[in-house]
Amino acid sequence: MVLYTPGRTSSYPDDPVKHGLRAFFLGGGDEVGNVGCILEDSTGTRLLIDYGLAPTRPPKYPAECPSVDHAIITHSHIDHMGMAPWLVGHLGTRLHGSPLTASLSEVMWRDTYKVSKIEGYPLAWDRRDMEEALQAWTTHQIGDWFEIGEWKCRFHRAGHIPGAVMIEIETPEMRVLWTGDMDTRASPNVLGALPVECDVLFLEGTYGNRVHPPRVEEEERLVSKVLEVVDRGGTALIPAFASGRGQDVLRILKREAPSLEAHYHGMGTRVTQLWMEHPESIREPKQLAKMWRWCRRVSGKSDRRKALDADVIVSTSGMLDGGPAIWYANRLRHHGANAILLTGYQAEGSGGRLLLDERKLRIFGDVVPIDLEVEQFSLSNHAGQNELVNFARACAPRHVVIFHADEEGREPLSTQLAGEMKVHLPSNRVEILIE
Ligand SMILES: [Zn+2]
Repeated sequence: MVLYTPGRTSSYPDDPVKHGLRAFFLGGGDEVGNVGCILEDSTGTRLLIDYGLAPTRPPKYPAECPSVDHAIITHSHIDHMGMAPWLVGHLGTRLHGSPLTASLSEVMWRDTYKVSKIEGYPLAWDRRDMEEALQAWTTHQIGDWFEIGEWKCRFHRAGHIPGAVMIEIETPEMRVLWTGDMDTRASPNVLGALPVECDVLFLEGTYGNRVHPPRVEEEERLVSKVLEVVDRGGTALIPAFASGRGQDVLRILKREAPSLEAHYHGMGTRVTQLWMEHPESIREPKQLAKMWRWCRRVSGKSDRRKALDADVIVSTSGMLDGGPAIWYANRLRHHGANAILLTGYQAEGSGGRLLLDERKLRIFGDVVPIDLEVEQFSLSNHAGQNELVNFARACAPRHVVIFHADEEGREPLSTQLAGEMKVHLPSNRVEILIE
């Protein structure tokens, strides 16, 4: 299966931009994840922001990128950086990002490569593209201006996960802010994003239709549930993503219930080591290091068996689609005192969704019933509706482009902001001209 024919199948418009700013979403315009967007103006400066893939089965890819010299990668999630090796291998694109995002890219790409081999899905890039991409990074600290063509750019903290950035762009005509995935609320490992005054705001809208419960209350609810499970003689399995949620959960548990015996197992081990090498991107980095010493990291088989007697196991994958979490679920399901605690959104078709809806899991090829307590907590690291609306107002732009959202996500944001700024709701592969 040929996914792309470089230079021939791109749907990007041929004509130059006469004035204003052109935005062309290759992906992530009217959907969550799978992001890629080309910005271009009349100076001929062209910039790609993010180039990801949605890790669904089969994976979803953004449209083919036209020739572009520079791409900024906002953060290390695969739906934002998963296709960057293709850019480097086929277009010779230079990648820009925070130092932590650049460091994390190796772990993320190697894992994507491995998963595509295991699951037998074609990937548009190969090992050599990946090796080249690892050499293609130019990193920038938060707050430092750098130039791309005729534009000046600088990064701001985005919240969301360590290393994640928002991008401020000064073109000759306007000031642009691109949020990437963001949260204005602090979480255990990162401080929240702060508004930046601009003319044009590209605002992610993942949870535009969701009003988050207060974070502190959700954290307390999670801790009490874990303690309840432990009191009745059970083990709480907490499936969590490798970059963000797992470390958040462990920091909450360490802070609130340090007497618990918590085990960690998954790709997050390497991720956390890299976080600790970039304390400038971490909230209270000493607390992260303390938490990391406090929890027991599982590596070998005997560690795994020991973890079954622990109070808490935090393990990947976050949506129970594979990883050691499945192995643990299979062992723990036979003892009714145990519980599975989900810490975020479970996508349609994911293992976690099946567990919530039907109390079943796909385990090593079989669908098996799970007669355990299952509870879901909202520890999202994306801004909710109130945070997004307040953030947009504080940036006071003339235009807002709501992306990285489905119809339900962007509609309420659009309604609330329409009186104050011009709202644009992009579709993939349709240009928007902002003047
Ligand atoms: Zn993200």
